[in-house]
Amino acid sequence: MYKLRIRRAKQVVLVCKNRERILTGESMKNLAILEGGHDRGVSVVVDNAGKIELIAFDDKVDQEYTNCAFEEEIDACGMCVIPGLIDGHTHPVWVGDRVHEFAMKLAGATYMDVHKRGGGIGFTVEHVRKATEEELYTSLRKRLVRMLRSGTTLAEAKSGYGLDVESEMKMLRVLERAKKELPIEISSTFCGAHSVPKGSTCEEATSNVINEQIPKLQELMKNKEITVDNIDVFCEKGVFGIDETRRILEAGKAVGLSLNFHGDELHPMRAAELGAELGARAISHLEEVSEEGIQALSAASVIAVLLPTTAYILRLKCPPARAMIKSGVPVALGSDFNPNAFCLSMPLTMHLACVNLHMTMEECLTAATINAAASLGRSHTHGSLEPGKVADMLVIDAPRWEHLVYQLGGHDDVIKFVIKNGKIAHSRPCYGM
Ligand SMILES: [Zn+2]
Repeated sequence: MYKLRIRRAKQVVLVCKNRERILTGESMKNLAILEGGHDRGVSVVVDNAGKIELIAFDDKVDQEYTNCAFEEEIDACGMCVIPGLIDGHTHPVWVGDRVHEFAMKLAGATYMDVHKRGGGIGFTVEHVRKATEEELYTSLRKRLVRMLRSGTTLAEAKSGYGLDVESEMKMLRVLERAKKELPIEISSTFCGAHSVPKGSTCEEATSNVINEQIPKLQELMKNKEITVDNIDVFCEKGVFGIDETRRILEAGKAVGLSLNFHGDELHPMRAAELGAELGARAISHLEEVSEEGIQALSAASVIAVLLPTTAYILRLKCPPARAMIKSGVPVALGSDFNPNAFCLSMPLTMHLACVNLHMTMEECLTAATINAAASLGRSHTHGSLEPGKVADMLVIDAPRWEHLVYQLGGHDDVIKFVIKNGKIAHSRPCYGM
């Protein structure tokens, strides 16, 4: 028994076909695509374990699988198939929205103005510390379902609104529950150094993360209560400086976490250079990256996770995506979903990356699939449609896949099916469409 067959697709976008783990430079826009012809479409066969077995023209699949049964079949006539989208950067565990701050920002307040008036991360931390795990899970669940409906099948998700042992572990446990109960896949990131908590100095916060939070995290991981893949620090002027960032990242690396942190966002900090030196897997933001930083990222193959929603909402300058791609930096994308930038949608993120970061639609798809998978250390199993890989796919109800990006804010209508591990995890309601 096979899990799934998709047949008669007009296009199947493989992204890559030679088991590339990462795409850079010109190869970011040379997508591997299998195009159906006038008389035959393309099929995808998913095995019983939820892995892709074969992608080929319908007639070949008809011949090879004559007597085979499929649990599910999808007729994708006139439609396209692409890999499930991968969101490289999210902060989805919190309660207490900050819609009032959006009004302040529209009236001209900067990120730091809001912060000084008791808003920003501090506001969210207060709410998260008071919340129960159940309350946090209820709001997280809704957000993850919305992400899935918008085409995200794998998301990075951070802690970072607890800033003490108890609340940070609470957030990570809530993420762990979501991994068990929801079809969307999650890569957890410990971000106890997201901000310096009220009443602490930077040194005290750094020492708390290294000497209290990381040891507790290690204990919970040993007991298999949680699984955490990455460590993150908000390396920024007035938050964690370059030396504190180095110490925290080194402590995380020592317990086996991958380095994946916020750098060079509001001020040039030489975070890219630090990440390259420490063997970081990925650095997010990079609006203020230096020229040397770009060269360092390229030489060390550190993935730049760009977040076009941040610059859009805060009206900041955009990260230099073109210069990075030209220099061979592998670029990925993330929605940066958080109470400041309430965007759960990767298609919208990709649209912003096209218009504001001057990336092509092909580069955006690469950045939201194979390169985002690489930023989470999962590009050997995720991020492209190749035999043996996890069958995470979207069926796009349009004759070309680019409609997903082109139809601004239209992903609810354009995405017909979201498939996770070869199973339909979401299908578009009909409403006569
Ligand atoms: Zn962030």
